[in-house]
Amino acid sequence: MGWMAKSASAVAVAALLGSCSATRDGGRVLDRNRPLRVVLDVGHFSRGDSAPIKGQGMVSARGVDEFVLNRKAAKAIARALRDSAGVEAIVHNEDGTERDLRSRPRKALEQGADLFLSIHHDAVDSSVASRWTYQGVERLHCDTVSGFSLWVHDSTVGYPAALALARSIGRSLVEGGRRPNLHHARPEERALGREILDSALGVYRNNLAVLVSAQMPAILVECGVALNREEELVLDSDSGRAEFARRLARGVRAWISDDSLARGR
Ligand SMILES: [Zn+2]
Repeated sequence: MGWMAKSASAVAVAALLGSCSATRDGGRVLDRNRPLRVVLDVGHFSRGDSAPIKGQGMVSARGVDEFVLNRKAAKAIARALRDSAGVEAIVHNEDGTERDLRSRPRKALEQGADLFLSIHHDAVDSSVASRWTYQGVERLHCDTVSGFSLWVHDSTVGYPAALALARSIGRSLVEGGRRPNLHHARPEERALGREILDSALGVYRNNLAVLVSAQMPAILVECGVALNREEELVLDSDSGRAEFARRLARGVRAWISDDSLARGR
């Protein structure tokens, strides 16, 4: 844990408590008179009418692009954060034109983000996927893997705070009946740099580009497995999205209100 992480954690706590303003790495000064600002990054991008493109993300069991699911989820989470956690929430990449992974947290910094949450939906390894036909089109699905996961990396500025926040969100989701996805905890995924940190709460470590370049506590949120046909129906419904968002916001609120959690202890 470097000094930058400690510094950012202290800054985050200062901002949460409103006790003083302070300088974070990069020279930004937090305004103690404003609420916590969360930037929600809509993962991937819109491919429009073009053929599938590298980096566009997964396609759900029923053929919905991940970007479309991510945008709906990010907007629901933004609403829930504003309503129930009392924070400022900004949705980034709503128009789907952002293709640069590292510019996402950079733009979040420019927007004064105290927290950065990148919103995604998960796929599975092709070895466990099957084929089916939906509305006349053959597609992939996997009904044996499901659940959310929360990804952090220890090179991110503010890592202790991010890890504590991930656990707080995971705890809230589990209390709400959601289950963590342990598919990525398989031994073969270690070779891909994926390491399970908390199997009960679905928290993983990985050096994802969108995380390692963040200059504030950052988490990548996999809302669920959209290749699971049953889970997709929940993930891609207004009620399922709203409930997930409320649970996530509750986790953020618990983290904010608990000083020891915000410090990453
Ligand atoms: Zn994704």
